[in-house]
Amino acid sequence: MSTNLSRRSFIKAGLITAGAVAAAGVPRPPSARAADAELCTLLDLQQCIACGACVEACREVNDTKFPAPIGPMPDMIPRNRVKIADWSAAERRSIDDRLTPYNWLFIQPAVGEYNGEDFEINIPRRCMHCRNAPCSNLCPFGAAFTQDNGIVRIHPDVCMGGAKCKAVCPWHIPERQSGVGLHLDLLPQYAGNGVMYKCDRCYDRIKAGERPACIDVCPEDVQQIGPRQEILEKAHQLAREMDGYIYGETENGGTNTIYVSPVPFDVLNQAIEKGPGSPHLAPAPDAMASANNMALAMAIAPVAGVAGAVARFMSLGKSDGGGKETQHER
Ligand code: SF4
Ligand code: SF4
Ligand code: SF4
Repeated sequence: MSTNLSRRSFIKAGLITAGAVAAAGVPRPPSARAADAELCTLLDLQQCIACGACVEACREVNDTKFPAPIGPMPDMIPRNRVKIADWSAAERRSIDDRLTPYNWLFIQPAVGEYNGEDFEINIPRRCMHCRNAPCSNLCPFGAAFTQDNGIVRIHPDVCMGGAKCKAVCPWHIPERQSGVGLHLDLLPQYAGNGVMYKCDRCYDRIKAGERPACIDVCPEDVQQIGPRQEILEKAHQLAREMDGYIYGETENGGTNTIYVSPVPFDVLNQAIEKGPGSPHLAPAPDAMASANNMALAMAIAPVAGVAGAVARFMSLGKSDGGGKETQHER
């Protein structure tokens, strides 16, 4: 655990703060977050030349956040239900054509024909940073959370690796690395099995007044970042100019990642390779609109609120930045 606190202190802190946080854990609607405070990205898919500079930059700046397992990894019980996910060996760690715990961004090629013309579109893929993120709302430990600026993160010191976030994400974005995390000290054979990883929108660079690394290095200015409303206006303007299409504005109830493409997204979705680590581009209904998920979010709010508060407590004095954080914001 990369903090001065010991595991015992972690649990103790959780118990001490439990009472206070139970009240704070009451779910809040996403509208409680000021829309103009949310950071949103616009990706002009006409421009991407698949040079890979953004993928490389993401790996470089996040190298210190990547998991560092120290083997051997404990066998999980039941063994056939919770599998070990190990991406740490050099060969797997270097994979950059899908999402992994060591690769939070990849370029997904889409090649095909539309309106009688060939197309080749390259799509930078990573977490969409959803406005009402089910990963954040439904993490039973409060490890996934949404900052007031809309960035959705997973706290590596709190995540148990149970992969609920991945199961409820419409794009199944977070990826697990075994052999790291809190579960090794608490219930090494029975809980979670690792930590989940995904794009954190370079929250620390943003806090320092810098742009995310993938945006900074792009030679074609594929991405822009700014207040959500401003980005949406630009996206619609761009879509009008190219007679194009938008993805991300309404998907999963609205995301803070807006793609604009001259080819419709249902056509792109047909053209891309989909599967583990390679998310789809299909319509994505609002996961938090489901009665089951809303009820679940209400039910786990106090528990997750406690863990989330402990995570905040643990972060005190750490230079991980990120601005004001709202644990388990709904
Ligand atoms: S894309 Fe998935 S992992 Fe990212 S914020 Fe949305 S639900 Fe969470
Ligand atoms: S915002 Fe940062 S963490 Fe996310 S894909 Fe870009 S470089 Fe990687
Ligand atoms: S750096 Fe820019 S042009 Fe190169 S792959 Fe990334 S988004 Fe595309």
